[in-house]
Amino acid sequence: MICEKLKKDEIVNILSSDDKVLLKELKDKAYSVKKELLGQNIYLRGIIEYSNVCSKNCYYCGLRKDNLNFKRYILDDDLVLDLAKLSHDKNLGSILIQSGELKSKEFTNKIYNLLKKINKITNEKLHVVLSCGEQSEDTFKKWFDAGAKRYLLRIETSDENLYKKIHPNDKTHSFKERIKSIEILKKLNYQTGSGILIGFPGETESDIAKDLLFLKNLDLDMVGMGPYVEHDMTPLFNEKNKFSRAKRFNLAIKAISILRIMMPDINIASSTALDVFNPNGRFLALEHGANVIMPNLTPLKFKEKYFLYDGKPGVDTMLDDYLKILEDKVSLMGEKICYKEHGTSLHFKKRIREC
Ligand code: SAM
Ligand code: SF4
Repeated sequence: MICEKLKKDEIVNILSSDDKVLLKELKDKAYSVKKELLGQNIYLRGIIEYSNVCSKNCYYCGLRKDNLNFKRYILDDDLVLDLAKLSHDKNLGSILIQSGELKSKEFTNKIYNLLKKINKITNEKLHVVLSCGEQSEDTFKKWFDAGAKRYLLRIETSDENLYKKIHPNDKTHSFKERIKSIEILKKLNYQTGSGILIGFPGETESDIAKDLLFLKNLDLDMVGMGPYVEHDMTPLFNEKNKFSRAKRFNLAIKAISILRIMMPDINIASSTALDVFNPNGRFLALEHGANVIMPNLTPLKFKEKYFLYDGKPGVDTMLDDYLKILEDKVSLMGEKICYKEHGTSLHFKKRIREC
């Protein structure tokens, strides 16, 4: 019987299993937990890929500073405001501003001003989620005060040694600093999200099981996690991987179900990377316990320069087309898309009440 208090060995067993009966039980349990507590509701979060300029050099990511093979951009303020307005008009409820990590004063102020303006033009009706990397407490606070209420900062892996294997071993890529940032976000009362990369070279099922328990211990409000996908211009590209692409996809889907059972009231996003390995990947994640899906709003000419990994899905899909496909698939599942709703995490609502 799969229950909320799963132990590490049980998680490893599920992650390693091909047993159809066990996997059906996992899927059914995860979906029924989600349905019972959060209803048959799917929340939308429009992604704006704000900038591919990054000061970091993560070994897995195509945006890393040392990848000189593509043009860098930062979106104009007017374009970001148009996209925010579009999201508001289309009743998406929330947007995610995602970016390479920059810590300059200019970047801090640009995001600050954008937050202020977005709140103004949407009457504070559109919730903004930020995913702009590690920042100082002052910057996190400044952005919170300007209206950002949610922040997503993946830990990528909970094992410090593995962290060092997939990042340069220096002060700007510090495991401890990353955890400290997540703690600061929680302290500042952000709706706090984190997540992991699943199935990168050097990782085992046991590591992923530890990651899931770690995410639970962090007591997060939201989680976004997806499979590791290769990028040929990164140092990790040629590393031997225990997991085939099919295995990584299955691990990611199983991880979503396991986490839904372990953390019933959080928001779990169906990550874009799932669609690289299976065109139906993001929808399958919804059937397995995820409750947030993220249409990409970035205009094509920038979207195709925001390449974290090879084979980025939906590069040429327009928003209206994507929403139509989404509506059809979601209704087949008996679920409904919650237009106009922010989709605030239930876990966050409880956490704030208890403070
Ligand atoms: N720069 C910020 C950061 O790293 O937190 C936010 C943007 S970063 C592109 C968002 C996420 O993309 C990372 O947390 C990482 O998990 C994911 N990512 C990067 N490279 C990837 C890859 N090769 N496969 C799958 N996900 C990847
Ligand atoms: Fe930069 Fe984020 Fe990519 Fe690391 S994962 S290189 S911080 S964009």
